[in-house]
Amino acid sequence: METIMLSPQTDENAVKTAADLILQGEVVGMPTETVYGLAANALNGDAVAKIFRAKGRPQDNPLIVHIAAFDQIYDLCPAVPPQAKLLAEAFWPGPLTMIVPKGDCIPDEVSCGLETVGIRLPSHPLARDLIRTAGVPLAAPSANTSGRPSTTTAEHVLRDMNGKIAAILDGGPCGVGVESTVVTLALDKPRLLRPGGVTLEQLETVLGEVEVDRALYEKIGDDVRVSAPGMKYRHYAPKAPVTVVRGDPQRTAEYIAAHISGPTGVLCFDEYGDLFPTCVVERFGSQNDLAAQAREVFDRLRAFDDTDVQQIWAQCPSDEGLGLAVANRIKKAAGFHVIELS
Ligand code: AMP
Ligand code: MG
Repeated sequence: METIMLSPQTDENAVKTAADLILQGEVVGMPTETVYGLAANALNGDAVAKIFRAKGRPQDNPLIVHIAAFDQIYDLCPAVPPQAKLLAEAFWPGPLTMIVPKGDCIPDEVSCGLETVGIRLPSHPLARDLIRTAGVPLAAPSANTSGRPSTTTAEHVLRDMNGKIAAILDGGPCGVGVESTVVTLALDKPRLLRPGGVTLEQLETVLGEVEVDRALYEKIGDDVRVSAPGMKYRHYAPKAPVTVVRGDPQRTAEYIAAHISGPTGVLCFDEYGDLFPTCVVERFGSQNDLAAQAREVFDRLRAFDDTDVQQIWAQCPSDEGLGLAVANRIKKAAGFHVIELS
């Protein structure tokens, strides 16, 4: 299959072409404010199955359904929890996915046999235009080969998906850069399953106390049942193994500099790049600029795959605010191989 690049800047029919492909049961790369998604008609199980094949995604890892207006949630969820409305008023359109009980129209291919479904209303104008033009909700996971870092540009998507999907809608680089926050409203208490662009602190201003799933902090074995199946897989990983060093940035940089041997990559804050003259250095933002770190982290992790580094050392922010999401992605890229400097 030839993958066509659709550019709304030069082709006024780009969104319509993408929507037609979706209605024909094809998969299309879609820009969102978080990362690029691989979109298919969420109500068509055969189309959704193609997403799993294109990504090599494990069959037990359900997809998020994207809508263009809040009221569409009533078509997808028989009993919308009251907290969903409050969260939507505060954070939609935006980088927040809510897990709610699922309606019968959601095929098993989307929910992977769970009784719940994840729903998100993205803020990216092209994503919403595509959902509206197609006239159906769109199931879309991140548009990367499973296990690799998520895609934040159309070029990343082409690199992973060329020949595997019908088209890519080019919306330029993503603004947030890490995937949506996932919170479940289907348990006794709200629980954060994945940190993202909406922070834990922001969720708590609306929901009160929010539990935090242990999969955020530790590696979960394949045999363990987890709330968000996606959290148990090695994720976001470049080809070379990654070791994270956490603590005061000056000290972590010095620790890394003192431990370098052989062809080495270093993912570091902008301030410390000069400390590693013999290494492939990828700066992913200032130590104080979490938004830049979120935007850059996947692109910088991907860049190591064009080099011959045999190991990668990484600095990492602390867990406050957006730092929780950035740190989670870096720790997952490292398979939770983390050295804590006290
Ligand atoms: P991705 O679309 O690749 O960004 O991954 C979506 C994330 O949401 C994965 O971690 C999924 O396991 C999680 N997820 C999607 N649907 C559900 C659901 N119904 N219950 C719990 N987690 C979900
Ligand atoms: Mg993903």
